[in-house]
Amino acid sequence: MRKPIIAGNWKMNKTASEAKAFAEAVKNNIPSNTQVDSVIGSPALFLQELMASSKGTELKIAAQNCYSENAGAFTGETSPAALADLGVQYVIIGHSERREYFHESDADINKKAHAIFANGMTPIFCCGETLETYEAGQTAEWIENQITAGLVGLSNEQVASMVIAYEPIWAIGTGKSADATIADEICGVVRNTVAKLYGKEVSDRVRIQYGGSVKPENIAEYMAKENVDGALVGGASLEPASFLALLEGV
Ligand code: 13P
Repeated sequence: MRKPIIAGNWKMNKTASEAKAFAEAVKNNIPSNTQVDSVIGSPALFLQELMASSKGTELKIAAQNCYSENAGAFTGETSPAALADLGVQYVIIGHSERREYFHESDADINKKAHAIFANGMTPIFCCGETLETYEAGQTAEWIENQITAGLVGLSNEQVASMVIAYEPIWAIGTGKSADATIADEICGVVRNTVAKLYGKEVSDRVRIQYGGSVKPENIAEYMAKENVDGALVGGASLEPASFLALLEGV
């Protein structure tokens, strides 16, 4: 019922020529968008090149961040209107690295979500807890709070059409993935929170990804779970063969 969505998050990796070479290597081997949405989240610098390289193919492109205003005196920021003009479809927001290193608050992320929708794009909204919160048994409450604050003021239709990524911070880049049972349980918390706030029809439609040390070898275990509709993948999305293997694992 919900179409799977696999998104690579390259983070601050690759050069323009490496990004182009990646797109050339994968673009004609991406499964049909009728089966899976296949997305690469690239640094803003390479988006124009990637949009050109992937034109007319099944590969979709995401930005990793944007600002909440379309234009103005915001030195160094990326305009959501400019992203939409390039044809970018998705924007990752609220990644734990942005929350931690760039001090983004729930309110900042909420403003970005509104700006992304206003420009006709789709947010991939990240949430997730620290190891300390996980070990204290406070994950569900933490996730509920991040979702409640991050989605304030969005319409039912907007929430139904967006993507929410659950990424436990303790599983990002550590090789220590939350096992599929935990991922399913917390993605279920995400879905129940959406149901409480926006109703069951919306929570049945919203797509929820798991992220954190997902690899070609373990993706099928996650995808088999009821509440997991896809994955947000860092390290294993960097090489063409690995990215394609992730898509095959769906
Ligand atoms: P890894 O897949 O490298 O653990 O990164 C996960 C992530 O942060 C994706 O956004």
